[in-house]
Formats: sequence, C-alpha cells, structure tokens
Amino acid sequence: MLNPAAAARRALPAVDRLLKLRPVEELAVRYGRTLVTATVREVLDSHRRRLADDAAAQFDEAAFVAECASSVEKRMRPSLRAVCNLSGTVLHTNLGRAVMPESAARAVAEAMTRPVNLEFDLDGGSRGERDSHVEGWLKRLTGAEAAVVVNNNAAAVYLALNTLALRREVLVSRGELIEIGGAFRMPDIMARAGCKLKEVGTTNRTHLKDYAEAITAQTAAIMKVHTSNYAIQGFTSAVAESDLASLAHEHGLPFIVDLGSGMLVDLEDYGLPHEPTPREAFAHGADLVTFSGDKLLGGPQAGLLVGTKALVGRIRKNPMKRALRVDKMTLAALEAVLRLYSDPDRLAQELPGLRSLTRKHAEIEAQANRVLPHVVAALAGSAEAQVISCSSQIGSGSLPVDSLPSAGIAVSGGGKRRGSFAERIATAFRSLPVPVIGHIKDGAFVMDLRCLDDETGFIEQLRQLKI
Ligand SMILES: *Cc1c(COP(=O)(O)O)cnc(C)c1O
Repeated sequence: MLNPAAAARRALPAVDRLLKLRPVEELAVRYGRTLVTATVREVLDSHRRRLADDAAAQFDEAAFVAECASSVEKRMRPSLRAVCNLSGTVLHTNLGRAVMPESAARAVAEAMTRPVNLEFDLDGGSRGERDSHVEGWLKRLTGAEAAVVVNNNAAAVYLALNTLALRREVLVSRGELIEIGGAFRMPDIMARAGCKLKEVGTTNRTHLKDYAEAITAQTAAIMKVHTSNYAIQGFTSAVAESDLASLAHEHGLPFIVDLGSGMLVDLEDYGLPHEPTPREAFAHGADLVTFSGDKLLGGPQAGLLVGTKALVGRIRKNPMKRALRVDKMTLAALEAVLRLYSDPDRLAQELPGLRSLTRKHAEIEAQANRVLPHVVAALAGSAEAQVISCSSQIGSGSLPVDSLPSAGIAVSGGGKRRGSFAERIATAFRSLPVPVIGHIKDGAFVMDLRCLDDETGFIEQLRQLKI
C-alpha cells in the first residue's frame, strides 16, 4: 500500500503533459523549448520534494504554471540593468560612473555591428594604431605631445610605473598614498608594477627637502598623486607641482602626475569647484599625466596616459600595453565624448554628467515639488513624503570635500521602527521595473533628484510601488 504522500507524488503529471499546457506552450514560444523544458523539470522536482515532505499537500496546476513562468522570466531578465540614480552621488562607481551621451552610444553601436578601421590606416591602406583615433583629441585637449589609452586609470598608473621605474624607486608623498574604493591602493599597484615605493614626508606635511634628500641613484621618478577622494585639512603642507618638476628635472628624472579624475576643462567656468586639469599639470612641468575616462571626463572606462613623445613612446612599447589595451567599443565612445570638448559652450548640455552637476538647486527643487504628489499617491498613506534640501556628492573620488546644494524627497514612517521601515521603503523602490536607488539618512529614505532625467518614466512606474 502506498502511503498518501507517495500516492500524491505518483499522481504528479508527466513532463510531456505539462509542456502541452497552453501557458507553458506560450512560454516556450517566447523563451525557447530548451529553457522551458528544463524549467518544467526543475519546478516539478521541487513540487515532488514538497509533496514528499507534506502529506497534506496537493499538486496545484495553476501554482505550478505560475512558478514556471516566474522562474523563466527571472532567469532571462538581464542582470546588468538600467537603474535610476537618486543616490545623491553623481559619478557613482557602483552605478557605472559616467552616463554617456547618445552620440557615444551611436558610435559604439556602429563599432559593434560593423567592421571598423580599428587598426587600419585608411590613407595608406596599411596597418594602423588603435589609439590614433583618440590621440589627436587628447593632444589638443591636454597640450601633450603624445597619448596612450588603456583599460582604466589603475592600469595607466601600473603601465607608467612598470615602464619607467622597473626595479627602481619612485618617490611619493606619504600624504598621497591613497586607497580608492578598496581595490586600488597606490602602494600595492607600485609593488605589482615592480617598483619600489619610497615614501616621503609625513601624512600631513611634506617639504621639498624631504624629496631632495630621498633622491639616490636608485630613484626612477617623482610622482604626485592627486588625493582626489579625501582631503587632509588643518596643519598641512604639500610641495607645489612646479617645485617637484624642477627638482625631478635637475636630477634627470621624469615627473609623473596621477590626476585621478582629470577634467579637460576648467570646472569653475561652469560654476563648479576647481578640479586640476592635465593642461595645468603640464604648465607646472609634468612629463606624464594619467587620468580616468569615466570620472569627470564623462566617457567610457579607460585610463589615459598623456605626456612627452619619449615617455609615451616607451610606454607604448611595453608588452603589458597589449594586455591592458582597450577595445573598439571603448575607443568609439571615447572619441565621441572627446569630440564634445571641442565646444565647451555646449558641454554642460551635451555631457550628461556635467549636465547633472551643473543643475541649479531651484530647478531641482521645482522638480521635487512636481514629483512629490505622485510619490504621496503611490505611498497611499503607508508613509509620509516631503521635499527636502540635501547635498549631492560628485563621486568617484572627485572633489570630495565639495558638495552641491540639491533637493530631494524624503520618505519616512514606521513610528518607533523608523530605521527598519526606511529599509523597507528602500527595498520597495529598488523593486520597481527601473530600480530606484536612494540612500537612508536620519531614518528616512532619501531620493536626491539631481540626476533624475526621465521624470515622466519615474512618475509612471510609481504606480507599481508595493510597500
Ligand atoms: C580613481 C583614481 C584612480 C583609479 O582610476 P580607475 O579609472 O578607477 O582605475 C587612480 N588614481 C586616482 C588618484 C584616482 O582618483
């Protein structure tokens, strides 16, 4: 005699019969027979186990079909998806840093779907150089003699040091031994690049004589790192770039500057705090400057090395350049973004990152007031919402001490359990079709609207909010 659970298990329909159910067939038309058959088997297995564990359980066909559909849809949903960045950090590394202009997207699509002259000289019909597509722009925009492009700025720093200082020493101020986002520590990169870091001065104060006394026959370069993600304040002293450059040159050494973000135009012209530019570094005597493509510059992830012909030429010949080179999509996007810099007057409209950074408080506040009633309606009395003043961060290590006056919407409630309630609200907003990323502050879920581009889309999907 079968016990009741075993009987129920035996009563499970066959895979073939389940595949013929109308909604399952529709799934197969949409997602393919292979995936749907595999899913039906998996879900059937889980039902079998459930029936074995629970004598009272029954096979429920509707529940089975719904589970298959949600399992297939979950698997086929892209993992990398668009989100709505209301985090208050404009260049958020975890949210993909710079948002690129349509022109860059079009250039990338073209490079992806058609053969391109990546390493082909159309004039001579011979082999070309992939970096040539952006080198002219980089030279004109920075004043450098030559340029090389690699995967990111960490790779740029690595390649510069590995080329110019292998088995020798590089002088860096102790106050500049930075860590960026946990994974990029200057001392670690130096070690892997095969050079020896010689720390100079103290954390808060470094003087020119500290550098001068540290120079030996083993010294290969002097390096300045723009401490872009923190600021040492108070009793501080750093040596001017021009003094460092003179000292390096007196000893026949290259002076390298890692700018981190490295904006190509003067941000003060756009009403923003100053961020050092490669052009300024060269004016101070730098021989080689490295910076990121996807921070303030607003392009794709890339590391840009610009400098003298001689140094860049040596870097280009390093076999590791091949391992760190960028692909055609990156070059296509980078060229499209650099082209926008030819017209600085329109840059703040054309470049999404700069557009967000230059939005005025009053404009963002007006938007918050427009959006607020929709948020209130979506919350349906389960929480309170109000317009607040807040401050946005530029992010990605740029201009860390400067914040931009902004406006947003704070959602709160839950009485004594404010904290966990705010987490719940955050989860609900993250579960929207275009996940909304805010942040929690003082027990409230805060959405900084500085980066809200698609106001209509944001409002429309609020109807699906489930608290
Ligand atoms: C961001 C940064 C880096 C690393 O750049 P990635 O492009 O993220 O690799 C290196 N140095 C400084 C000073 C930075 O700010």
